[in-house]
Amino acid sequence: MDPQLSVAIFALGLAFGSFLNVCIYRLPRRISVIHPRSSCPHCQSLIRSYDNVPVLSWFLLRGRCRHCRKAISPRYLVVELLTAGLFLLCYGQLGLTLSALKCSVFGFFLLALIFTDAETQLLPDKLTIPGLVLGLVFSLIVPVNDVVSLFLPALASPVSSTSWRLLSFLDAVTGAAVGASFIYGAGALYLRARGVEGMGFGDVKLMAMVGAFVGVRLTIFTIFAASLAGSLFGLWTLLSIWIKRTRRRILRHHESRREAQRRAWASAGIALRHLPIPFGVFLGGMAMVAFLCGNRFLHLYWRWL
Ligand SMILES: [Zn+2]
Repeated sequence: MDPQLSVAIFALGLAFGSFLNVCIYRLPRRISVIHPRSSCPHCQSLIRSYDNVPVLSWFLLRGRCRHCRKAISPRYLVVELLTAGLFLLCYGQLGLTLSALKCSVFGFFLLALIFTDAETQLLPDKLTIPGLVLGLVFSLIVPVNDVVSLFLPALASPVSSTSWRLLSFLDAVTGAAVGASFIYGAGALYLRARGVEGMGFGDVKLMAMVGAFVGVRLTIFTIFAASLAGSLFGLWTLLSIWIKRTRRRILRHHESRREAQRRAWASAGIALRHLPIPFGVFLGGMAMVAFLCGNRFLHLYWRWL
């Protein structure tokens, strides 16, 4: 890693992270990301360019608006640092290559979707659809190397440069189709079993985008890992609600411990069912893990089997 280049890539990441913050705030509210200029969400006063420097401005203003002194979410800082870290990680792992560019673009879209879903429970089409298209385009430049390429090269031999592009593109299309239909099917089953919508069309389009970037195998890896992470999160939430409500019942209603635990358990189950769990956050996070180290993990797994 070249130190000067690393600093430049980190700075570029900060700038892109700053733009990402604009997207996260504006896209779910259907405001253009280019016009008008950034303003404070509380007092609407325009943010001057010297107050809009990534990371630095947030610290200099101590996380507050210069005019109304209301708090600016630490999310602005976190997203800028995460984007810069992501760009640097892609460069560190893959060098100055097209693969690193693909990794950065993929991560950029995932970060935008993860934070938008966490804040608004929305996965805007303005992110998922361009993401899907970019995933398909990148498959023509950087090989996806998935099932189609594994099984078809024997048929397409001798492999010319056009045929690897075609195979890679087919891999991306298959990945998108499998990702989207898996989530669509799971969503339909969930709706039938629980009577509430667990996953929306946003998740379907998100997984189409992920599939186009990573191919079928890593798409399935992503879905399983995200389900596991989502379940652990659900369990942790259930237990913390249960403990809190048990304590409250003992203190306020003077119930016996056993009675309080039983009643709190029933009400925690109901509370969890109505709690919106942003599944897109888990899908997006695990997609990034899959892209960076999923193949290594699958390789170890097969060897262990
Ligand atoms: Zn303000």
